[in-house]
Amino acid sequence: MPISLAHTKSLHSSPAAAFRRKVLELRSQGRTVIDMTAGDLDFPTPPHVVEAAVEAARAGNTRYTNVDGTPELKDAVREHFRRQNGLSFDRSEIIVTNGSSQAIANVFAVTLRPGDEVIIPNPSWATYAGQAALAGGVPVTASCGQNMNFKLQPADLANALSKRTRWVVINNPVNPTGALYTASELADLCEVLRQHPDVWVLADNLYEHIVFDGRKAATPAEAAPGLRGRIVTISGVAKSYSMMGWRIGYAAGPASVIADMTRVQYLTTSCTSSVSQAAAVAALLGPQMVLAERAGILQSKRDLLVRTINDCAGLSCVPPEATFYLCVSCAGVVGRRTAQGRTINTGEDFSDYLLDAAGVAVLPGEAYGLPCYVRATFAIPTELIHQAGRLIDEACRSLK
Ligand code: PMP
Repeated sequence: MPISLAHTKSLHSSPAAAFRRKVLELRSQGRTVIDMTAGDLDFPTPPHVVEAAVEAARAGNTRYTNVDGTPELKDAVREHFRRQNGLSFDRSEIIVTNGSSQAIANVFAVTLRPGDEVIIPNPSWATYAGQAALAGGVPVTASCGQNMNFKLQPADLANALSKRTRWVVINNPVNPTGALYTASELADLCEVLRQHPDVWVLADNLYEHIVFDGRKAATPAEAAPGLRGRIVTISGVAKSYSMMGWRIGYAAGPASVIADMTRVQYLTTSCTSSVSQAAAVAALLGPQMVLAERAGILQSKRDLLVRTINDCAGLSCVPPEATFYLCVSCAGVVGRRTAQGRTINTGEDFSDYLLDAAGVAVLPGEAYGLPCYVRATFAIPTELIHQAGRLIDEACRSLK
């Protein structure tokens, strides 16, 4: 008799991790593969941040910390929100988590009753739906295709609402499309929720510093201050400071929800790593020039990859305003056949084909609710973008 619950079988695992396994397998067979699937950046963690962690460990900061984070890191997170969004929070309104993933899991765990609905714009990072389902909720998708610049429209949000709606997830900037909502677009979405006092907003700002062409990422709590009492804002140091593996995220919201999230966190992980928390303080309070410098480098790589892809036969893309992901439409290769006689019908077919024929790994858009697209990261060395472009173009030209 199996011991796992039936519903855990339907929880998907990370699409990027699944593809990375394929990449490693091919590499172990001696194939050269350019990996454009990762949600990782190819920048190192800034040296002063690493140094702060080493110092913390040497100084004996190696014990459990407060469940909701060290006072120093909570204050650094408060400073971050003040600087970035003009928002002030008390310490009681902040929790430090094991990556922003745990903040999302915590908040759903303490608020969702079985059958409660979570509205998730589609396309989106697939994990929101899994996290909602894990907590007994029901993910409800609200479509926002390329014709809407991949942004949820107020009318579509209104249509998706029901008596069971508990959360609306607003990820800004958006993984996987790189779309960036303006403050007024966020205010318009929040306006729809004004008449729905039981619906809360989960704002995910993880990519807030990776924005291009002089733009700035806004967040619902600043765009719609009237709704602040039912907004939980999450972010973390992973993408901003290239600290994916340090596992530090945080959430800010009403103190009662933060207190509930803290109780769940105590039961699941006790606290986050003391050494990582010291590193995150250095990241948030240290020199911030690194953010603009790295966004500038990523912007050049974006421009290069966009040009390269738009030169490939059958592929097209529009420049993302943020993040380090490019969604490539493969509509122009759908219906074509590979030399082995396989027809390309989906983004999945195309990403399988690119991996086999070109040795380039990209993620199928289907993993993010975006059929006939693939997602490619441009946070890889420039030379590899050039090489990938040549290989992808060749592979597209050999389709019949
Ligand atoms: N939100 C989004 C949109 C993401 O893409 C990710 C990770 N790829 C996360 C949250 C979680 O990141 P972390 O747990 O590393 O902070």
